[in-house]
Amino acid sequence: MNKVAVITGGTRGIGLETAKLFLENGYNVAIFGSRKESVDDALNKLSLYKEKVIGYFPNLTKEDEIEKTLSKIYDIFGRIDVLINNAGVSSNTLINDYTKQEIDKIFDINFKAPFLCCKAVVKYLKQTKGVILNTSSMVSFYGQKSGCLYPMSKFAINGLTKSLARELAPYGIRVNAVAPGITKTDMVKNLPENMIEPILKNIPLQRMGEPIDIANAFLFLASDEASFITGDIIKVDGGIIN
Ligand code: NAD
Repeated sequence: MNKVAVITGGTRGIGLETAKLFLENGYNVAIFGSRKESVDDALNKLSLYKEKVIGYFPNLTKEDEIEKTLSKIYDIFGRIDVLINNAGVSSNTLINDYTKQEIDKIFDINFKAPFLCCKAVVKYLKQTKGVILNTSSMVSFYGQKSGCLYPMSKFAINGLTKSLARELAPYGIRVNAVAPGITKTDMVKNLPENMIEPILKNIPLQRMGEPIDIANAFLFLASDEASFITGDIIKVDGGIIN
């Protein structure tokens, strides 16, 4: 039976590229998106893998919706081996400009959703000695000069990763995170030039990351080749040094 990966935010950018790579490597994949239209659109792009890929749009802040969706995936594919918490929103707001709405949105998607997805998936991963992969960020190491809630949420992701790695190791479940550097997706298109330019100057490999660079790291960390790696935050950022 094929291994099964569940990927949140699997409808575009890093998540969609990761879904494609896992499918190419023999996994069955369930993608989560925020809306039916974006899920349908992504499934069209993955139509080569018809029976091996399914998509849902649960509200990632509602525990019961996540549980019901994982249960459907388990009924269809018969197992769950990998959860990739990839959905996320960025921010470049200055501290005094934050509204309650934006504060709630960042914490809901970047903090609460990965926690709830981990909580709901553990019972399945205990059966398969599976893997949780979180999506951190380069800014989880040194912050950024606007949009403090974004790095704050990614520091939390590192904490979740390191703590769950310890809690779940006795069940054979590994938990790691990938910390992408600046990567060519819609998320970066929305950031102002003056935020991106100085970062590019500090990348020793002299290019932006591509979604496939991050997907490759996820695939490795999910594989048996990474069976002695847990609780780590792997930087995939071209060697950026602040
Ligand atoms: P993207 O904007 O292209 O994709 C974000 C994904 O998150 C989409 O699939 C979207 O559907 C999903 N999402 C957003 N809001 C959601 C909601 N309310 N409910 C459900 N899903 C929702 O971004 P990306 O660059 O592919 O980012 C993927 C991950 O990588 C994020 O966690 C991001 O923080 C992280 N990251 C990206 C970069 C970068 O430079 N692109 C750098 C570091 C970390």
